[in-house]
Amino acid sequence: MPAIVDADLKTRPPSETRSPWPDDAGKFGPYGGRFVPETLMPALDDVIDAWQEFRNDAAFRAEYEGLLSTYVGRPTPVSHAKRLSATLGGAQIYLKREDLTHTGAHKINNALGQALLARRMGKTRIIAETGAGQHGVATATACALLGMECIVYMGVVDMARQQPNVFRMRLLGAEVRGVTSGTRTLKDAVNEAIRDWVTNIRDTYYVIGSALGPHPYPLMCREFQSVIGLEAREQIQGLAGRLPDAVIACVGGGSNAIGIFHPFLDDPVQLIGVEAGGYGPETGKHAARFAAAPASTGVSGKTGVFQGMRTVVLQNADGQIAETHSISAGLDYAGIGPEHALLRDLRRVEYVHANDADALAAFQALCRFEGIIPALESSHAVAEAIRRAPSMRPDQILLVNLSGRGDKDLNTVLKALGMEGDPS
Ligand SMILES: *Cc1c(COP(=O)(O)O)cnc(C)c1O
Repeated sequence: MPAIVDADLKTRPPSETRSPWPDDAGKFGPYGGRFVPETLMPALDDVIDAWQEFRNDAAFRAEYEGLLSTYVGRPTPVSHAKRLSATLGGAQIYLKREDLTHTGAHKINNALGQALLARRMGKTRIIAETGAGQHGVATATACALLGMECIVYMGVVDMARQQPNVFRMRLLGAEVRGVTSGTRTLKDAVNEAIRDWVTNIRDTYYVIGSALGPHPYPLMCREFQSVIGLEAREQIQGLAGRLPDAVIACVGGGSNAIGIFHPFLDDPVQLIGVEAGGYGPETGKHAARFAAAPASTGVSGKTGVFQGMRTVVLQNADGQIAETHSISAGLDYAGIGPEHALLRDLRRVEYVHANDADALAAFQALCRFEGIIPALESSHAVAEAIRRAPSMRPDQILLVNLSGRGDKDLNTVLKALGMEGDPS
C-alpha cells in the first residue's frame, strides 16, 4: 500500500487534504486539470482564489459546520447492521447513515458548502445542472436556506422521468429551465449551465454536484464531503474499538466515495468503490468505467477529456461518449472524478461493480433485515458487503457508506419487482 501522506498534514485543519493531490494545476497525477473555454478561466480563477481564502477561514468553517449540525442533522450515526451480519454469518457490517441527512442523501454537504462559498464571494445567483434531479434539489434547498436565486438546468427528457424532483425544486423556489438541445439529457444541461456562467460571470456561481469538473471542483467537493469519513472514522472506533477492515462506497461521479475514503487513505484499511454494472459489463449496458469489458461490446473506459477535466470515460469503439445504463439514476454516468482514476492506477482503491439485480437484492435485504429503505445507488455498496461478508471472520468489520434513502426509488423498485398496481 503506498503511503499517501502530505508532508505538512499536521499543520492543516483535519478536513483538509491528506494527499499531495491535486497539485497547484489541479492535477491528480495524469488526471484532473482544467479543460474549459478560455472565457471561463477567469471565473475558475475567482473560485480558486475564494476557495484558498475560505477553506482555512475560521468564520467560514464555523458557519458551515454550524449549519451541518443545526440544519443538515450531522453528525449522522453509524449503525451496526446486526441481523444482516448474523444472517450472512461472517464480517460485521456497519452503515454510515447519510440517508438520515436533511434531504436524504450526502449531496447536501457539498451543495450547502458551495452555496456558502458563493455568498462569501458576493454572488447572488446560483446555477446548477441536474440529471436525476437529486443535485438540483440539494442546491435548491441550500439556496432557499441562504436566500439566493437558483436556476437549475435539466434536459426535458430527464424532467419527464424525474417529475417529483422538478416539483420539489419549484416548491423550494428554484427556476427549472428545460433543455431541448441534443439528447435533452444531462450533458446538454451541462452545456447550457456553462453558457449561462460565461454570460453572467459577475453575479453567478456554478455549483457542481460531484467530485468532478475542472479544478478546483473535485478538491472542493472532496473537502466538503470528507466530513463523512472524518465522522465515521471516529464513530467506528468508538463502537467497535478499532478501524474497519474495509470501507465500501458506491461510485457515480465519486463524491460520497471520496468523502468516506479520504480520511482512511493513510490507514491500513481496504477501500472498495462499487460502480454500476447495469445489465452486466459483458452486455455493454452499464456505467462501470473501470470494469474489464469484452472488446466485443465496443464499450470501455478510456482516458479522455470530459466536462472540463481529464479522466476515465466510458466510450464506444468510435471514441464517442458511451450511452450508459444503471437502475440507479445517480450512478448512470459515463465519467468519473479524476481522483478515483488516480487511486485506481495506484491500486489504493479497488473498484468492483454490482449489477442491477445485485443492487435490487441488496435493497430488499436491507429493508427486511434492518428496517432501512436504501437508495438504489447505496444498494450497490450494500451488495458488495453482502458478497464479501460470508467469507470473512465474525470479528472483521465492513463499513458501508449508505449514501441516501430510497423513498425516491420506490416506483423503480416496485416496477422491477413486478409489484406495481393497486395495492388492495
Ligand atoms: C447522486 C447520488 C450518488 C452518486 O453520486 P456520487 O457523487 O458518486 O456520490 C450516490 N448515492 C446517492 C444517494 C445519490 O443521490
